[in-house]
Amino acid sequence: MKFGFDIDDTLINLREYAFHYYQEQLDQPVDIAVFHDLNRVEIHEAFGLSDEEGKNMWNRSLDFLYFTNCPLYSGALELLKQLQSDGHEIYYITSRPIEYTENTFNWMVEKGFPIVRENFFCGMKDSEKVEIIKNLQLDYYFDDKPAVLNTLTGESVNVIVKDQSYNRHLDLLRVENWDELGDLINSEIK
Ligand SMILES: [Mg+2]
Repeated sequence: MKFGFDIDDTLINLREYAFHYYQEQLDQPVDIAVFHDLNRVEIHEAFGLSDEEGKNMWNRSLDFLYFTNCPLYSGALELLKQLQSDGHEIYYITSRPIEYTENTFNWMVEKGFPIVRENFFCGMKDSEKVEIIKNLQLDYYFDDKPAVLNTLTGESVNVIVKDQSYNRHLDLLRVENWDELGDLINSEIK
């Protein structure tokens, strides 16, 4: 089978990593409960920043956020390795800006993800992921972002949502963590 994965906030805990980084950078402590209540992908409101300020802060933080030690979600690496050793094909489809393509690929290799260059797609808009997913004829696709997930309803791919505070309004198959995803995949494909 062909499995497709988003990276940020699906495989790795990027927003929470950014939330801690922002506190340090802005010297502004904010309770983690505020993070868990955010109902949009962007995190800057928790720091009282406008959308414009938030966008600038995000963009100048990307090198740090993407390429240092953002934690992987527990169980993600293990499940991906299991899928690979079971003979499945694994694809990564991320809408990170295109200029981060090579460094992102290299970071994924360093972290031990089963990844090959031909199966790694980076730099498209959220709304363009659907075309890649259709062309690849993926059996399963796992993502967190409403702007992507909303484009996939009606497609033949089995969509699974990584539960996040900002996507709970979506009525799609959902898992809270990678152990649940493993249970779901293993029960469906065996
Ligand atoms: Mg994502």
